[in-house]
Amino acid sequence: MKIRQTEIFRFSIPMEPFTIATGTMHFAQNVLIKVHADNGLYGLGECSAFPMIVGETQDTCLVLAKDFASIWKGKDASDIEARMKELNDYCAHNTTIKSAFDMALYDLAAKAAEKPLYQYLGGQKRTVETDITIGIGTPGVMAETATKYKESGATILKVKLGKKVEEDIERVRRIREAAGADITLRLDANQGWTYDEAVRAFDAMQEYNIQFCEQPMRTYNDERLPALCNRSPVKIMADESCYTHYDAKRLVQAGACHYLNIKLAKAGGISEARKIGQVVAAAGMSCMMGGMLESRLALTAKLHLVYAAPAIHFFDMDTCMIGHLEDPVTGGVTYNGYFLQMEDAPGIGADVDHGFLKKCESFII
Ligand code: MG
Repeated sequence: MKIRQTEIFRFSIPMEPFTIATGTMHFAQNVLIKVHADNGLYGLGECSAFPMIVGETQDTCLVLAKDFASIWKGKDASDIEARMKELNDYCAHNTTIKSAFDMALYDLAAKAAEKPLYQYLGGQKRTVETDITIGIGTPGVMAETATKYKESGATILKVKLGKKVEEDIERVRRIREAAGADITLRLDANQGWTYDEAVRAFDAMQEYNIQFCEQPMRTYNDERLPALCNRSPVKIMADESCYTHYDAKRLVQAGACHYLNIKLAKAGGISEARKIGQVVAAAGMSCMMGGMLESRLALTAKLHLVYAAPAIHFFDMDTCMIGHLEDPVTGGVTYNGYFLQMEDAPGIGADVDHGFLKKCESFII
């Protein structure tokens, strides 16, 4: 199965502005690629650039996508390991755009095998309930949002924090008060606190029954994570500190976190994400499936990965629910309330509306 050509699309998804500790996203900076094989099949891959976290923009993704497509032209699509090694040899990092290329090859491989991707990966379906994320705002507005989500059936809220600690404590207090005792609360500080601020925040927040908090400190403070982990009454999940399975090993061995957050945009694709899952499973730990601002296409690929990676225990798979103003994807995952489900179809089992793609800037290599 040789790669004949690759189409690359500037796959911007309009959305309501979404604010985290390090900045605001005004639209989803996504890129879609369509890898055509010589047997008539094509594989789709999507990535979502999140500059404040990973350092890639939609434009850097598009530039590298053209280089990657040139490297792969005429090569064997079914040798995913060799193809990803070529991209990793060509340039370091840039895991977001690499994840789209990895995804397209998995879509192709599973389509060629005439199996849904999760079956191709040896997985099986299970219940997946996502949280829903509350972006940073005033404590009052965030509490109102929490109430709205609870009334819509959410049982797990993810709260974005990482600003001034006293205000963050107030945010959590107001949200717990508004949403009641039964709702599960998980937090994400997106590297917003110093060590001392994290200590102050967790000591004050423990009374609000917090499931865990993602990434309290800047990644350059990773050496202080074991100490924070040891004394914190709130469990800690490494997110920005964990890109690859090498990071996962380092963090697990250091006792630097209780949980890990897997994102395709950080890992560089399904291959590496599965290796992280294996490290986590071997350590007897759990991890979360997270994301940036992907459409339902990448979301569906993530659900396949979840079915094939039992160590993924928490699901932050709400990216299409938090303000996407358009859904150009056909087939794939649907939400039943906050539960994710999909019909069996070969490959990822999702495609993109042709009319939407015609409006996107595109390149053929
Ligand atoms: Mg996070």
